[in-house]
Amino acid sequence: LLQLYSPLSFFGFIYREIKQAMVDMERMFELLGQDREVADRPDAHALRVTGAQVEFRDVHFGYDTRRPILKGVSFTIPAGKTVAVVGTSGAGKSTIARLLFRFYDADGGAILIDGQDIRDVTQASLRAAIGVVPQDTVLFNDTIRYNIGYGRPDASDAEIEAAARLAHIHDLIMAMPDGYQTMVGERGLKLSGGEKQRVAIARTLLKNPAIFLFDEATSALDTHTEREIQANLREVSLGRSTLIIAHRLSTVADADEIIVLAEGRIIERGRHQELLARDGVYAGMWARQQESAQTAPAD
Ligand code: ATP
Repeated sequence: LLQLYSPLSFFGFIYREIKQAMVDMERMFELLGQDREVADRPDAHALRVTGAQVEFRDVHFGYDTRRPILKGVSFTIPAGKTVAVVGTSGAGKSTIARLLFRFYDADGGAILIDGQDIRDVTQASLRAAIGVVPQDTVLFNDTIRYNIGYGRPDASDAEIEAAARLAHIHDLIMAMPDGYQTMVGERGLKLSGGEKQRVAIARTLLKNPAIFLFDEATSALDTHTEREIQANLREVSLGRSTLIIAHRLSTVADADEIIVLAEGRIIERGRHQELLARDGVYAGMWARQQESAQTAPAD
């Protein structure tokens, strides 16, 4: 029995790790056949996306019901707008992203897209509507073309190239002797964290989702890469309902609304300038980040 059990529990471990990191979720679901935590209702219908308005309505959630993580979180991303979530480590920011992608169901309240409770729609249609750039993008040991087009196997070379250009990764690819046929991975081209995120951005552009979920990398990127990613982010989020899970504040200054989360509750909300004027938690975070940016060497 032990022999039988071990590989399963090992797989379970890997699964949990991957789930935690939001790494290539769609691929994981493909491999596993279905999610263990949530299942389609027998009468689930396909999500009907009109403007892609996203609403969190008094959402309560805990991985363990004895330890609540989100304690009544409400916000709306109007169609095509951008909301950014900031807050200290462990505040529950990534949990919000996981709930929107329906890795877990809320314990209380509801998450709605264009008025439809995400528990009532098929997971396939929900996940088709959301493009995710995870913190840590896993690349496959295959060509860079495959890695960009993955998720859209029917994409033409022209489409792949257009996405790569928008994500500012085309020039890097063309500098390789084999171009788009360059192998990526352990024995091939090794990409930096920022380059991997750009591959993920190109993937998302190809997928052309109505909702864009960006889980910012926690690790510090150099100033130049960070600016490039920010520029990419603006392009990708244009006209899409966007949720940014931010670990650095530089990415959120343009957001239509910034939500400051602390211990599972929204303690401040507003636009960048409004929050600075309020001189509260956000203003304090901003001041600290400016200080550390000044003392850190540029690039
Ligand atoms: P960070 O900025 O460090 O990424 P965060 O605000 O995104 O933090 P979350 O990842 O949402 O925080 O985690 C919120 C809380 O939930 C943390 O206390 C964390 O330990 C806990 N948590 C996260 N994932 C799980 C899990 N799979 N099982 C149990 N607890 C979890």
